[in-house]
Amino acid sequence: MSAPKQRVRLFAAGQAMFRLVRADKGYGGPYGQNRMPAKWMCIDCGRIIDGTDDAPDTRFNKWSGKHDNQCARNGHAPCAHCGKKLPRLNDGCPRAHNWRTCPGKAEDSRMVAQHTRPGHQPRVNP
Ligand SMILES: [Zn+2]
Ligand SMILES: [Zn+2]
Repeated sequence: MSAPKQRVRLFAAGQAMFRLVRADKGYGGPYGQNRMPAKWMCIDCGRIIDGTDDAPDTRFNKWSGKHDNQCARNGHAPCAHCGKKLPRLNDGCPRAHNWRTCPGKAEDSRMVAQHTRPGHQPRVNP
């Protein structure tokens, strides 16, 4: 008996989990000139990155000991204004949307800086 066909392919990289959304298609385009790599989506924030059929290109950096991809490196925290998950900043603080794209922000939020929101935790230096 063989194992049942795996429909959803997940890959845990660092502090994030990625889901394969498109398999590798080799080369495409009218002259076959475009490389069409596999696409992986972060299941927390929905960012799509390239990869192979086996793993996403999160590129663990041996010298710094961290992932180059921000989802895998920093993990996620909800946006303070709308609650959607976003990858954390490098210092561990939660990220907030731009005021144009966040449904919880109005135009007067456009000048609120990242670390000045009331109730924000003290900044942790990496
Ligand atoms: Zn993510
Ligand atoms: Zn938001």
